[in-house]
Amino acid sequence: MSTKTHTHSLAAPHRGDIQRWTRTFIPTSKEPPADAEAISHKLLVRAGYIRRVGAGIYDYLPLAWRTLQKICAIVREEMNDAGGSEMLMPAMEPIELFAETKRDVDYGDNLFKLTDRHGRITALAPTHEEIITELMKSGVSSYRQLPITLYQIQTKFRDEFRPRSGLLRGREFIMKDAYSFHLTLDGEGGLGETYDAMDRAYSNIFKRCGLDFSRVEAEAGPIGGSASHEFMVNCDAGEDIILRCPETGYAANVEKCETGERAWSFDGEPTGDLEKVHTPNLPGIEEVGKFLKVKPPNMLKTVVFKRHDSGGAGVSPVWILAVVRGDHDVNEGKVKAAAGGPVALADEAEAKAAGFSIGYVSPRVIVGRTDCLLIVDPDAAQGMDAAKGKPMFWATGADEKDYHVKRFNWRREMGDVLNNQSYVKVADVRNAMAGDPSPRAKGATLEEGRGIEVGHIFKLGTKYSEAMGLNVLDPNQDRVPVIMGCYGIGVSRTLQACVEMSHDDDGIIWPGAIAPFHVLITPMKIEPGSELMTAAEQLATDLSHAGIDVLVDDRDERPGVKFKDADLIGIPIRLTVGDKALAEGCVEYKHRGDAGKGEFVKMHDVIDTCVRALTEA
Ligand code: ATP
Ligand code: MG
Repeated sequence: MSTKTHTHSLAAPHRGDIQRWTRTFIPTSKEPPADAEAISHKLLVRAGYIRRVGAGIYDYLPLAWRTLQKICAIVREEMNDAGGSEMLMPAMEPIELFAETKRDVDYGDNLFKLTDRHGRITALAPTHEEIITELMKSGVSSYRQLPITLYQIQTKFRDEFRPRSGLLRGREFIMKDAYSFHLTLDGEGGLGETYDAMDRAYSNIFKRCGLDFSRVEAEAGPIGGSASHEFMVNCDAGEDIILRCPETGYAANVEKCETGERAWSFDGEPTGDLEKVHTPNLPGIEEVGKFLKVKPPNMLKTVVFKRHDSGGAGVSPVWILAVVRGDHDVNEGKVKAAAGGPVALADEAEAKAAGFSIGYVSPRVIVGRTDCLLIVDPDAAQGMDAAKGKPMFWATGADEKDYHVKRFNWRREMGDVLNNQSYVKVADVRNAMAGDPSPRAKGATLEEGRGIEVGHIFKLGTKYSEAMGLNVLDPNQDRVPVIMGCYGIGVSRTLQACVEMSHDDDGIIWPGAIAPFHVLITPMKIEPGSELMTAAEQLATDLSHAGIDVLVDDRDERPGVKFKDADLIGIPIRLTVGDKALAEGCVEYKHRGDAGKGEFVKMHDVIDTCVRALTEA
């Protein structure tokens, strides 16, 4: 927990808000939207928090906006504590800025672009590295002005291929993005110092939002090592796969996760003669396997990559072929690391012209060529079937369109090239998965879980400053590129992740810190001027003076309807004002998460009871 008082809204002199249900807009409904799968998406729509306007585009209605404001307040406190200063950059970004870093191309179709009346192209910013680097260029020239950390909370635009799950993947969404600028990587004022401060701030923010989250190693940046961490909410609705070592606490995104050592050997007798089979019109490895009656773990998949820098003088080989078992997925980052240079999936036409029958490539294709490096994953580099204690049966492509082969044998098919380390390497080039040996503890195996990425901190290095010319004079009067970090939080995604994490069959259950209102007052009868209404209104005023945000359900509805809606919208405390309790000088007090009926609490104790409950929560 943060050591700060994070219930400042409860402390005097701040007055809580009072709103009346009939005067605000809370369109609750029984029916979830047809396009919703995630429970949090269904609940946010049913409880009147969000409304779909278009694909990946939403209205934030008053309840959602109040919660977003509370999340933002927490984010601001922690960012300011970590040394950040808030500012606001425009959402519209001239395309020329993006061109300077080539992101106009690299960002691909996710970049929204529009053309103005003068024919100028503007991007709707998906993130702000270029704008802020340009800004720094105009005002920073000496190392003495560093470090600086600036942040904003702003709408971002990304033309996601598949917007889904409400706010979890929108095309317009709210992000907090921070950028830091340094002379050095380490030491006082260095990138590492701010990175660590952000790391702590992120943990505080997500704890204060009541989230159960993991901090995982993510795709390494240009600086390498653990240069990037993601904050993942632990829940099944997440799109990301996280692997963890139960013994050491090591956790990583599947994109990054290492595996412990796996034994391998190409040695093993052939299981019979190589057999060529006609396999036309079979779209994937599953289909080929079914047709051949071979299971994917007995198939070798060969994926062709090309070295980016292969045009350069002295760079060889040109083609990098990654071989994994049919049931495994090639990991591009690992291929790059094993190849020792930048790689990208080969262009199909180009690869075909170079003699690779894409879709039917086998490891054998490198025999007799000098422009290839074959990198075999240890699980594919097996001559023996360890489980069966017999030689391994392999099926793979025939290096000819529409044909596969059965009984591939590493030694027989590859010959001497298998021993030539210039052409064949064995290295981890696949995604890790549950059951793999832990990279951190001998004997332990990795476990798998799902997560929603709510935050990402990243050591950028000099990628943007070099591309855009952001330099400062160092103490020796040398001009050096500024070292940068960037730090994002999906604010609107966090709101929905909180609902995904905290709900029951009846609706949302907000933690006090980010609930749109702290207390819901439900009068049992709506009669203007009645003793009951007067008591309810007095209660609202007293609570508000104690800094508590109050919603009064003044709808002339049956109590059953009101209680159902109360559970749906998830306000932490419900106070029911009825004749029976009132006759005893009490109100009925109930926590949203608790089962059964509430308890009677004396009117003069109720403020303290609420404050205590909200402070402890
Ligand atoms: P993802 O892998 O989920 O597409 P990302 O890695 O591209 O996200 P970043 O560029 O790291 O996202 O953005 C910072 C944060 O913004 C993410 O950690 C996430 O919480 C949030 N975010 C990114 N894309 C979206 C989106 N389409 N809708 C809502 N939030 C998003
Ligand atoms: Mg990310």
